[in-house]
Amino acid sequence: MIQLQNYIRDIQDFPKKGIVFKDITPLLNSKQATQKCTEELIKLIGNQAIDKVVGIESRGFFFATLLAQKIGAGFVPIRKPGKLPYTTISQKYALEYGTDSIEMHVDAIKKGERVLLHDDVLATGGTAQAACKLIETLGGKIIQCNFIMTLDFLNGKEKIKGYDVASVLQY
Ligand code: AMP
Repeated sequence: MIQLQNYIRDIQDFPKKGIVFKDITPLLNSKQATQKCTEELIKLIGNQAIDKVVGIESRGFFFATLLAQKIGAGFVPIRKPGKLPYTTISQKYALEYGTDSIEMHVDAIKKGERVLLHDDVLATGGTAQAACKLIETLGGKIIQCNFIMTLDFLNGKEKIKGYDVASVLQY
C-alpha cells in the first residue's frame, strides 16, 4: 500500500532560510506513487464535468496535464511574466516583500467553461488567488482548486475561500 507522504521530501532552508520546501520529485520518480496521486486527485474532483485544467508554473504542470488527459479536459498553463508567447492577461499578487505577477493566454478559457485549478502546494494562497482572478477575468467558472498538499498553518485557504478547495495531503 503506497503512502504518498513517504514520497514527499522535506528540504530545510530551500530556497531560503526558514522555508521547508516540499519536494515532489521522489513522488514523480515513482510510477506507482504518481499513479496513486493521480487517482487521489481524480477522486477529489468526483463526477464534476471539467472543460479546462489550469496548472500553475512549474510544478503544477505535472499533474495538471495528467489530470486533463484522464478527465478529458484541455490543459492551460499559468506562467511567470514574459514566458507565454501569445497575447496574455496578467494578475499581480503580494509577496512577503513586494509583488509578483502571473500570466495566462487571453484565449485559453472561453466564457462559461468549467475550470479546475491545480498546483502542487497551497502555501499562503497568494498565487492561487491570483490564478482564480485570471480564470474569472476570462469568464471561466471555477469548479475546484485542488492541490497535492496544503500547508494549513499558512492559512492559504482563507485567500481562496468561497471555492471548493481540496487536497490529497494536509500539513
Ligand atoms: P503561495 O502563493 O504562498 O500559496 O505559494 C504557492 C506556490 O509556491 C506554489 O506554486 C508552490 O509550488 C510554491 N511553494 C510555496 N511554498 C512551498 C513549499 N514549502 N514547498 C514547495 N513549494 C512551495
